[in-house]
Amino acid sequence: MIQRTLILIKPDAVRKNLTNEIIRRYKEVGLAVVKRKDLIAPMDIIEKHYSMDPEYLKSIGEKTIAAGQQVKSAEDQGRKVVTWLRKFITSGPIVALLLEGEDAVVLARKTTGFTDPATAEKGTIRGDLGTDNILDANREGRPVWNLIHASGSEIEAKKEIELWFGQV
Ligand code: ADP
Ligand code: MG
Repeated sequence: MIQRTLILIKPDAVRKNLTNEIIRRYKEVGLAVVKRKDLIAPMDIIEKHYSMDPEYLKSIGEKTIAAGQQVKSAEDQGRKVVTWLRKFITSGPIVALLLEGEDAVVLARKTTGFTDPATAEKGTIRGDLGTDNILDANREGRPVWNLIHASGSEIEAKKEIELWFGQV
């Protein structure tokens, strides 16, 4: 099925001049760039994009645990991470992309790779170009620098496309 999905090229990737290489990799797997917006993200958009839903916070805290750091509460750790993340994402220029293609949501996630660059599969963008890891990030009180956001599901993609590009 032809689908649409949303990508954000995060401030760490823009700063490292990886924007063109990242776009090239999505095009290489057959995804087309329908829309592109270069901007500094407003905090109110980011607060909606990275919400404080308890289940979501828990899933983020569990990634800290999976990386090898013990925490008292996964949800509390997730809340800290999202606070760091919101600050980071609004700290510099990003690029928002609306991509389209066959099974775009799953294909873009596969091309992006796992959240933690330290364990992201080789051949994925985070696995090949990412240099950071979740353990260091938590020790230093910041989100892991993993270059990209890619919508996690079709429902997330629809919401995020409307948030970043309005009705399209
Ligand atoms: P993904 O971007 O792979 O969908 P999540 O939605 O779980 O990952 O998290 C959003 C972003 O928050 C991640 O891309 C990453 O930058 C950061 N992040 C997630 N979990 C952690 C964690 N446990 N420690 C540090 N940063 C994290
Ligand atoms: Mg996600």
